[in-house]
Amino acid sequence: MFKAVPSSYLVPHDSSFDLEKALTVIEDRPKKKALKKALQQEVQRLHDLQRVFYAHDRHSLLLVFQAMDAAGKDSTIRSVMSGINPAGCQVFSFKKPSSKELDHDFLWRTNCCMPERGRIGIFNRSYYEEVLVVRVHPEYLKYQRLPNSLNLETLWSERLESINDMEKHMARNGTVIVKFWLNVSMQEQKRRFLSRLNEPEKNWKFAVGDVVERGHWDDYMKAYQEALNATSTPSAPWYAIPADNKPYMRLTVARIIRQTLESLSLNYPRVDSKEQARFDEMRQLLENE
Ligand code: ATP
Ligand code: MG
Repeated sequence: MFKAVPSSYLVPHDSSFDLEKALTVIEDRPKKKALKKALQQEVQRLHDLQRVFYAHDRHSLLLVFQAMDAAGKDSTIRSVMSGINPAGCQVFSFKKPSSKELDHDFLWRTNCCMPERGRIGIFNRSYYEEVLVVRVHPEYLKYQRLPNSLNLETLWSERLESINDMEKHMARNGTVIVKFWLNVSMQEQKRRFLSRLNEPEKNWKFAVGDVVERGHWDDYMKAYQEALNATSTPSAPWYAIPADNKPYMRLTVARIIRQTLESLSLNYPRVDSKEQARFDEMRQLLENE
């Protein structure tokens, strides 16, 4: 099975992750220009790796992005995946569940969107919302019409267990799962909200509800701390990425994806001798046309 690539941002698998100590910014980072240049190189490398990943056709790659609002999920996905052949990659954004989705178990809607072998699937928000936003707002549970016998005391740990089981199952079947928590500070979020309010071309990104959710910051952090500790496993690692500086964040995410793909020892399928003989026949046929 695949192994998590080493990184100082890897959330350890022993539940020792302390979110309060997780960095939101790296002060001695390279200059913006150097970060952008390095990202371009990573994007080119990702392009090459994706081609062989597709041809190799043994794994699928699931990239999960979770974050507070305005952390930069969309722009990270856009820039990191900019060199990827769109035919081999699909992005799904999970919003408030529809009534049809609410009629199913909480993993159903994302299970329907898992990437096929050879493909890359990106989840912009995911089943983790069920142990994050829903945990912060337990009143949302009433829309899920769960059985009355359900014990609220154990609900969250049971959901985390279901997620671990599902991810293990996916990993056993060839899905490589890499999860990113984009760790933006409260201060930087405020700055980004204000620029959404103050700059007309960014107004469309502003949602009143985002400011309301910001009021629950501590509850979200508690939910993240617990979820990341419970579900950062060798088969589905979490990386907590400093998100206050976008160029640094994008490069770090791209690097981890590139290293993950490299660790899979991908190769283009080789034809066997029988097939080779058939190829020779076809070549001759074409040449003699
Ligand atoms: P952006 O704001 O960048 O467009 P977004 O991912 O924040 O992207 P929105 O439409 O603003 O998209 O918000 C989606 C909302 O849906 C989020 O507040 C999220 O917490 C909520 N959501 C996602 N999944 C669930 C869920 N399972 N139950 C309840 N709420 C959910
Ligand atoms: Mg939003």
